[in-house]
Amino acid sequence: MAVLVARTRVKSILTRSSGYLREVCSHSLQPYRGCTYGRSLCGVGCYVRHNGLLTRGAEWGSFLDVRENAADVYRRSAARERAWARKSRGRFSVFLSSSTDPFVPQESRFGITRSLLGAMIDDPPDALILQTHSHRVTDALDLYPALAERTDLRIHLSIETDRDRLPGLPPPASPVEKRFAAAQALRAAGLRVVVTVSPLLPMAEPRAFFERVASVADAVVIDHYVGGDGSADGSRTLRTALPDAMRRVDPHSTSLAYRDEMVALARQILPGRVGVHIEGFAGHFS
Ligand code: SF4
Repeated sequence: MAVLVARTRVKSILTRSSGYLREVCSHSLQPYRGCTYGRSLCGVGCYVRHNGLLTRGAEWGSFLDVRENAADVYRRSAARERAWARKSRGRFSVFLSSSTDPFVPQESRFGITRSLLGAMIDDPPDALILQTHSHRVTDALDLYPALAERTDLRIHLSIETDRDRLPGLPPPASPVEKRFAAAQALRAAGLRVVVTVSPLLPMAEPRAFFERVASVADAVVIDHYVGGDGSADGSRTLRTALPDAMRRVDPHSTSLAYRDEMVALARQILPGRVGVHIEGFAGHFS
């Protein structure tokens, strides 16, 4: 299916965080509008698809605005936003990204995330969370060591299950094996890696999964669509095909009790390295 890719210019790039992200960081930053993983597994339950202001009525995954001046705008606004953040939020911390993926396939052509990381090496935030669903995160491995010297860098790599397919749903943006390999490569480079199991999907072999996470990541964050999709009761996700597919694999997996069981198991295997829900995204582990 075709994707409409457009080059655009933006006036601002650092968005002061609100809602649940407020507890995680002072700003979010989107190198792109839209996400071309929107038609993959993570796109099915992606809460951004319900944001009409962002989608402007287009099908989620069918469009991508390339913010080609993103790095210039970052350079122009970082000092002002740093001052604001330090005064009102304690520190200038950036979440890259909350409504797109910094490593969509088109990043290899346009290099917007790459240019932003370069700008941040020159003018770093106090903290940076790089959040992705793709093994392509290693494409910028050459930049991370310099970045990690200048800022509190945490790389969040989503691996929501050990299964590559759920019945009736599209494949993931990136195969499970490739994401584990990416986590391993990042960790081997001395970087801080957090595997985000969000939203938690039914596992085939949960013990083996968390043992593997323990070997490639510093920590794990577990979240469920109930309470984790931006609505109080998971109602956003209930409007999608995700819960039905989860139920077909394991009916228990659609309950919060399933999340709590996975958290308990993860805590046995990764003591002190498990975060839950927003607190986990904010870097609080126990
Ligand atoms: S990568 Fe992230 S923003 Fe893109 S569709 Fe998946 S969950 Fe949504």
